Amino acid sequence: MELCSIASGSSGNCICVGTQESHLLVDAGISGKRIETGLNSVGLKTSEMKAILVTHEHIDHIAGLGVLARRYGLPIYGTQATLDAIRMVKSVGKIDQDLLHPIIPEQEFPIGDMIVHPISISHDAADPVAYIMKTEDKKSV
Ligand SMILES: [Zn+2]
Repeated sequence: MELCSIASGSSGNCICVGTQESHLLVDAGISGKRIETGLNSVGLKTSEMKAILVTHEHIDHIAGLGVLARRYGLPIYGTQATLDAIRMVKSVGKIDQDLLHPIIPEQEFPIGDMIVHPISISHDAADPVAYIMKTEDKKSV
């Protein structure tokens, strides 16, 4: 599993996590263009991302979300309260309902060959979570 920080801090947050097979983004808090440039600089393409996991709806975590979702049809995962709050943020723009996938803290879900485990965190937002990524043990008998 590899992790690459595209941006962090108050100006915006975006992390790429992946394996040999699949990659995803955690948050998209800088412009879509800066995310693309950041991914390209580590040899990845935005179109290769399997999903965007959103921790919470603050703009420094979702600024580029709408652009990437519309341009690449990337599925977006977040708690229902987070997704509802994102829809209220005008600058994000319209996101196709089909791309929004509500998740529940402590309920794991698969993305590519990774298992994502969301945990509730304490932050001044609707229903913020952090994500733990793991890979399945693929040892065959
Ligand atoms: Zn925040």
